[in-house]
Amino acid sequence: MNIKKTLVVIGNGMVGQHFLVNLVASPANENYEIVTFCEEPRPAYDRVHLSAFFSGKTAEDLSLVEPGFFEQCYRMCRRRRRIL
Ligand SMILES: Cc1cc2nc3c(=O)[nH]c(=O)nc-3n(C[C@H](O)[C@H](O)[C@H](O)COP(=O)(O)OP(=O)(O)OC[C@H]3O[C@@H](n4cnc5c(N)ncnc54)[C@H](O)[C@@H]3O)c2cc1C
Repeated sequence: MNIKKTLVVIGNGMVGQHFLVNLVASPANENYEIVTFCEEPRPAYDRVHLSAFFSGKTAEDLSLVEPGFFEQCYRMCRRRRRIL
């Protein structure tokens, strides 16, 4: 039986999400239960193109998180949680 370790990622920004996507795509993913804490109300989005929000892009357009990414087993995003 593979006992998973808990991997905690504080902040779900552009870098944190990129890290998670790469981790999930690697064989190491099998070893971890992932919990990410995000002080913002929404998961990672494209800050570089944030100003496009004012010219018609939606929050969904700017999201960097594939639908269902955090709904899968062993992956969780706790929003509005600031880790001190
Ligand atoms: C309008 C705009 C335009 C930009 N244009 C460019 C560009 O052209 N080129 C470029 O290279 N960069 C650009 N940047 C900068 C780029 O967005 C950042 O370099 C990039 O977002 C950094 O990624 P990050 O994941 O390290 O941090 P962030 O994207 O800031 O993500 C960090 C996340 O972690 C959360 N967090 C932090 N501490 C905690 C905590 N203790 N507990 C819980 N959550 C926490 C934050 O709330 C945030 O959601 C731009 C930024 C803005 C705002």
